[in-house]
Amino acid sequence: MTDLHDPAQPADPQPITVYPVKEAMLGGGLKIRRALPNRHKRMIGAWCFLDHFGPLDFTGKAMDVAPHPHIGLQTVTWLLEGEIHHKDSLGFNQVIRPGALNLMTAGKGIAHSEETPPENSGRVHGVQFWIALPDRDRDCEPDFQHVPEAPRLSLGALDIQVFLGEALGLKAEPKVYSPMTGFDVTVGAAGTHQFALNPEWEYGLVPVGGSLTAGDVTMTVGNLYDLGRRRDHFSFSAAAGTRFVVVGGRPFEENILLWWNFVARTTAEIDEARRQWEQGERFGPVNDYDGDRLTAPPLNVNLK
Ligand code: MN
Repeated sequence: MTDLHDPAQPADPQPITVYPVKEAMLGGGLKIRRALPNRHKRMIGAWCFLDHFGPLDFTGKAMDVAPHPHIGLQTVTWLLEGEIHHKDSLGFNQVIRPGALNLMTAGKGIAHSEETPPENSGRVHGVQFWIALPDRDRDCEPDFQHVPEAPRLSLGALDIQVFLGEALGLKAEPKVYSPMTGFDVTVGAAGTHQFALNPEWEYGLVPVGGSLTAGDVTMTVGNLYDLGRRRDHFSFSAAAGTRFVVVGGRPFEENILLWWNFVARTTAEIDEARRQWEQGERFGPVNDYDGDRLTAPPLNVNLK
C-alpha cells in the first residue's frame, strides 16, 4: 500500500468517535459497563474487551466470579478503589489493590476465579481489559504477573500511571506480545492539559470519573471514545479529579474470534476449548475457591 501523503505534512488526526457502553452483570451481581467489543468497534490495537465496574459501596461480596477458563488472551486488572482476590490454575493467589497491576496470560489455557476478599474496604471501582495474543504467541505457556506499583509520572497537573506497555517515556514491566499501551490519567488541577501519543498507533479513551472536553467533544463515563490514528498528542480541558484510562497500540491485523472467555481464530478451536473445559481437560483446577466452577454456555449462541 502506498502512503500518498507527504510526511512533512502529516494527515489530520482521525475524528473522535463515541461508542456508548453496554451494561452487563458479572458473577456476584456486579454491574459492569462493557465498552468493547461493541457492534461497531471490535478492537483498539490488540485490546479486544474493555469492562469498567463501580464505583460501588457494598456490604458482603461485590464480586464473585467462579472459576472459568481463558485461551488466547491476556487479562489486565487495574483497580481505582477496593480489592479483588485472584486465584488461578497455576496456583497464584493474589489480592490486588489500587496502583498495582494483575496481568494473566492465558496462552494455551488457564482457569481463574475473581472475588471480593473477606477483609475489604466496602468499595470497589476498576477496569478489566483483555488483550488478544498474536497468532505466533497465542499458544504460549500460561503465566500470571503481579506488579505492586505501576510506573508513574507527573506531567503538569496530570498524574499518570502506565500500567501496561509503554507511553510518555515510561515502560511497564510485564510482558506483552504486541506494541501497545495502557495508562491511567488523573487531573490534579482544572485547566487545559495535553500528553503525547504515537501517531502510528490507534487509541481509545474510557472516562472513569468526571468529564473532559477535547475540541467539541465532551467525554463522560458510560462511553468509549475512539481517538483513531494519526494523533501525535491529545489535548483536553477538565476539572480537578477527572480520571480516565487510555488504551492503544499498533492496529491488530489478525481477525480474531471472541466467544465467552476465549479468543481464537476458528469456531472449531472454540468448540474444542469449550468441550475440554466441560470435561475437565486442558484447564487445571482453581484450588481454594469455595463453590462450583462456571459452566460454558451452549456454543450455538452469540459468536461475536
Ligand atoms: Mn476471567
